[in-house]
Amino acid sequence: MKKDDCIFCRIAAGEIPSNTIYEDGEFRVILDLAPASKGHALILPKEHYADIYEIDEETAGKAMKLAKRMTTHMTKALACDGFNILQNNHEVAGQTVFHFHIHLIPRYQNAKNNDILMWSHETFTEEEMAQIRDSLKVK
Ligand code: 5GP
Ligand code: ZN
Repeated sequence: MKKDDCIFCRIAAGEIPSNTIYEDGEFRVILDLAPASKGHALILPKEHYADIYEIDEETAGKAMKLAKRMTTHMTKALACDGFNILQNNHEVAGQTVFHFHIHLIPRYQNAKNNDILMWSHETFTEEEMAQIRDSLKVK
């Protein structure tokens, strides 16, 4: 279902103009309005899913296949040197638009602005790591 108050639903439906680089029945791929690099794009499903928790596995799989195809195509077209594929869920993880999307971020060796996506590291004891592993085991 499309959500009337969702900006990405309206962009995906073509109600709000966007710089579209790919479209099919289920997805639209647009240039990000505030790009991290030249060619930074977003894969938007046309259906509304808030995040990874809401999207069904089949659509998530198709979105990832499209990410693979777009990355291959964009790397050739942009002659970029690498790529980040990023997907944020919930505010604490940096999500600002609550309609599932995948970031496609081309990276260039000699870019002026090449903020590598990094995080600081936490440390856990071996015992804590074992507890974490046990709590996360898929049974
Ligand atoms: P998030 O932080 O939710 O993972 O990413 C949202 C992204 O959407 C940001 O990179 C932001 O620049 C982009 N964005 C927000 N509003 C618009 C818009 O109206 N049009 C386009 N093309 N991108 C948008
Ligand atoms: Zn939406």
